[in-house]
Amino acid sequence: MIRTRFAPSPTGYLHIGGARTALFSYAFARHHQGTFVLRIEDTDLERSTPESVDAILQGMSWLNLDYDEGPFYQMQRMPRYKEVLAQLIDAGHAYYCYASKDEVEIMREQQRAAGLKPRYDGRWRPEAGKVLPQIPADIQPVVRFKNPTEGSVAWHDVVKGIIEISNAELDDLIIARPDGTPTYNFCVVVDDWDMNITHVIRGDDHVNNTPRQINILKALGATLPQYGHVPMILGADGERLSKRHGAVGVMQYLDEGFLPEALINYLARLGWAHGDEEIFSMAQFIAWFNLESISRSPAKFNPEKLRWVNQQYIKAADNDRLADLVRPFMEKQIGPLAASPALAEVMQLLKDRASTLIELADAAKLFYQYTTPDAELLALHLTPEAHQALQQLTQQLTEIDWHKEAIHDAVKACVTASGLKMPKIAMPLRVIVAGVTQTPSIDATLLLIGRETVLARLQGILGA
Ligand code: GLU
Repeated sequence: MIRTRFAPSPTGYLHIGGARTALFSYAFARHHQGTFVLRIEDTDLERSTPESVDAILQGMSWLNLDYDEGPFYQMQRMPRYKEVLAQLIDAGHAYYCYASKDEVEIMREQQRAAGLKPRYDGRWRPEAGKVLPQIPADIQPVVRFKNPTEGSVAWHDVVKGIIEISNAELDDLIIARPDGTPTYNFCVVVDDWDMNITHVIRGDDHVNNTPRQINILKALGATLPQYGHVPMILGADGERLSKRHGAVGVMQYLDEGFLPEALINYLARLGWAHGDEEIFSMAQFIAWFNLESISRSPAKFNPEKLRWVNQQYIKAADNDRLADLVRPFMEKQIGPLAASPALAEVMQLLKDRASTLIELADAAKLFYQYTTPDAELLALHLTPEAHQALQQLTQQLTEIDWHKEAIHDAVKACVTASGLKMPKIAMPLRVIVAGVTQTPSIDATLLLIGRETVLARLQGILGA
């Protein structure tokens, strides 16, 4: 039974990289009918905030990454960590170290001065036959893990292949602070163990923690999970993705008019591929997803491609849903929308050409907000010939059936009768009826604006 987890630290919003890690963990669990666990790693009291927890939960929910268990909060599991800590000490796998911070710093300086790699020298590490220093009365000890000194730690990383680290590289890690609180790597180990995690899928910034975590798991007699370390996401300039490259918080994409399924689809392709497939549903992604196809090299975040993916999803989206999503963007700018035309119909007309909901909202505005064209704009487009032709068209438009083909035919007939070229009629018509020079096809635009309004505007300006 596959069990994966997403284990964010609530020290900011859910960012693009975190969301992709969550997506991969989620998809892997779903692919195998397994379980996806959410765990909030909130033990860094200075940097963790409840607002960040909310932001992460919101981001997960917007992206539809539903978890089967959790959220578990590490701060609520302190008694359990302390229990395991005591077990390790009792079994001789961990020990109290009374070296003060200053003492350790001096130790390190001396090592550096001697050209050695700074590390804890094991002075409080119990060994057979070794006499430990006198316990100082004024020092609260830390607990250190007794890391093996011989051999190496190796694992077959499902993304990166075999990784092997010599134990000589690893000193005895502090697993509890002087106040008794457990440290980061220790909590992760206890959680992955207790939560029966079978696959740890996380960013490759954690590769260095893995040998330490494996050694602790072994000391606990735990079954080791498989590890898969996913390469970082870079900006177009090859630097690690950060605010400089634009939005990194997932919820900012909601504000910028992206559909969650488009962002998911884009993230899925960031460092993972199934042939040349670009546009696919979550269900399809889950069916295809495997850890072996995760790329070993870092992916580059490409905002243009994300917009393109979003455009494909907008094009295919249901009109009513689009209307619901676009309405708030519009109302923020121009207040409550008139009931007519139906926003869903406007969406149908516009959705082929927008790459974000904001672009859709901007394009839709002309149907709800009208500014009488000023004299200059009119003078530019409304020639005397056009004026006359449009007066005749106005008459026509009062008589026809109000549907797209009839409107189209009426405009066409007006063009033919006037002997003018189409744009010479269509441009002033747009300016008068919509107040702008750019609209979707003129017949569809008139249809949606509605006969009464169209006639009123034409008559208002042409004086017919
Ligand atoms: N809490 C860690 C982070 O946010 C992840 C730890 C893990 O996945 O093992 O980077």
